[in-house]
Amino acid sequence: MEKGLLIIISGPSGVGKGAVRRILMEDKSLDLAYSISMTTRPMRKLEQEGVDYFFVDEATFNQHVAAGDLLEHASFVGNQYGTPKAYVNQLRSEGKNVLLEIEVQGAKQVLAKCQEDGDSNLVSIFLIPPSMAALEKRIRKRRTEPEEIIQARLKKARSELSDKYNYQYIVLNDIVTRAADEIKDILKNEIAKRSV
Ligand code: 5GP
Repeated sequence: MEKGLLIIISGPSGVGKGAVRRILMEDKSLDLAYSISMTTRPMRKLEQEGVDYFFVDEATFNQHVAAGDLLEHASFVGNQYGTPKAYVNQLRSEGKNVLLEIEVQGAKQVLAKCQEDGDSNLVSIFLIPPSMAALEKRIRKRRTEPEEIIQARLKKARSELSDKYNYQYIVLNDIVTRAADEIKDILKNEIAKRSV
């Protein structure tokens, strides 16, 4: 069986990666599996263990890093985030297209690793906001973070945006359904390319 695609969706915090991902996951024709990350960030209201993230403490996270269990990992505004490797590999070997929704440092590691391994079954997508003002509005609307974290995330976003040229596709998230449709077309095209 041909290995499934590894799909990276990256972009600044608040750009709408999660909302786009939820729409993509509903399209069964894409045969997607979402890679649930591990994080040391405290759980937000309405989040669920093993659904949104695997929530762990710093020591547990560091143990997984040391054991080489993570495909990539990065520190983001005071918390650690990483992608468990075994799950991604297993799903891809079953032919599933695995979706990673990750920030830019982690995405860089995955891009480098795929290049090193000669793994060309990779699709990298960077989501951009219509403007910094729109991004700020979205982060504030979530009401999940205190002011200092909002400021830190916005500062980080400015530097993250300059990373967009490292990706195969740059998609504007002006309207979430439109952006998701554009990504669906990209993925259908990539899937079709691999089955000829
Ligand atoms: P949040 O705290 O808002 O859930 O996530 C903060 C940032 O970390 C977002 O940009 C999110 O996409 C990213 N992120 C989530 N999981 C991972 C992961 O496993 N690895 C990396 N590198 N970033 C992640």
